[in-house]
Amino acid sequence: MAFSLSTAQSSALGDAALKRSNWSGLIEAYRPYLPVTQSTPVVTLLEGNTPLIPVPRIAEIIGKGVRVLVKYDGLNPTGSFKDRGMTMAISKAKEAGAKAVICASTGNTSAAAAAYARRGGMNAFVLIPDGYVALGKLAQALLYGAKVITIKGNFDVCLEIVQEMAANYPVTLVNSVNPYRLEGQKTAAFELVDNLGDAPDWLCIPVGNAGNISAYWMGFCQYHQQGKCARLPRMMGFQAEGASPLITGKIVTHPETVATAIRIGNPASWEKAIAVQQASQGQFNSVTDSEILDAYRLLASEEGIFCEPASAASVAGLLKVKDQVPAGATVVCVLTGNGLKDPDTAIKHSTSQYYQGIEANTTAVAEVMGLNN
Ligand SMILES: *Cc1c(COP(=O)(O)O)cnc(C)c1O
Repeated sequence: MAFSLSTAQSSALGDAALKRSNWSGLIEAYRPYLPVTQSTPVVTLLEGNTPLIPVPRIAEIIGKGVRVLVKYDGLNPTGSFKDRGMTMAISKAKEAGAKAVICASTGNTSAAAAAYARRGGMNAFVLIPDGYVALGKLAQALLYGAKVITIKGNFDVCLEIVQEMAANYPVTLVNSVNPYRLEGQKTAAFELVDNLGDAPDWLCIPVGNAGNISAYWMGFCQYHQQGKCARLPRMMGFQAEGASPLITGKIVTHPETVATAIRIGNPASWEKAIAVQQASQGQFNSVTDSEILDAYRLLASEEGIFCEPASAASVAGLLKVKDQVPAGATVVCVLTGNGLKDPDTAIKHSTSQYYQGIEANTTAVAEVMGLNN
């Protein structure tokens, strides 16, 4: 079907809407900032360009005229920000002639690697910790056609194995130690600046392997150098208390948290993350599982935004350090993944009223609704 807009129509549509309707993936959108050439085969599912959504109820809790928005990266094609890095890593792997890729994953990397690898005509091998991957993520990796291998060990152990495999076998490593991953992920910072007109005052972000916080900072710094933003944000990283090596300064051998996507005891980008915290005058803090779950329910029930538990760590963290937020500041919390990834945790930790097995008649239904007197 032929469809084109007149100039008048397109200006009525507005720049943002036009950009959305013409979106052809983040590599095309930010090509001058990325290590690709005309001969790089772009493997894309039109990732990126995710919404930046105001969360007024959360802003109200903080008060002081603070504006809070969430970058809902759970709306990427496979449901997490990992797609941003994967479009780059897989495109570059294909350019280099790779036939197969490998990764260790707490779940989302495996889903993204599987989808993009198969899209690019390559095989994907994914190693995940046995019993600690959310059901939706496992379902994705399997259906996208990866070879899924569960390991009797945590993520950190899986990462050691895949690094060794990639060094000794013809498989390309696509974990965030692959520099192209961070190149792709930095585009989320570009989108924030493009949306807000400047960088936010604070960026609150969940931290596991610390690749994403490092990537955002790289993006903000590059845009700043290009004069696209006047300021740089304070980078506020949040880890789960049971997996908080960046706060304690020590490797955690047995990380534990309900937020499985950040259940990491020895972050691959540890030094990078410390450098980001220092350069941005930011902070690392930890949040408990119960704070994470409170923020998780709050986002869903008060703002209509369903993210996964790890993502809610950014909002839990903001609420925890709310007294430090400057009056009138603009704060962005990154919601890294979609709540649908982990239905078990949602149902287990829901506090909503849930009536099961009610008789199939209006009297019985009215009764549980509280409408009978
Ligand atoms: C991977 C992931 C994180 C952690 O990102 P890092 O780059 O490892 O710090 C957080 N949340 C979700 C949903 C993820 O998939």
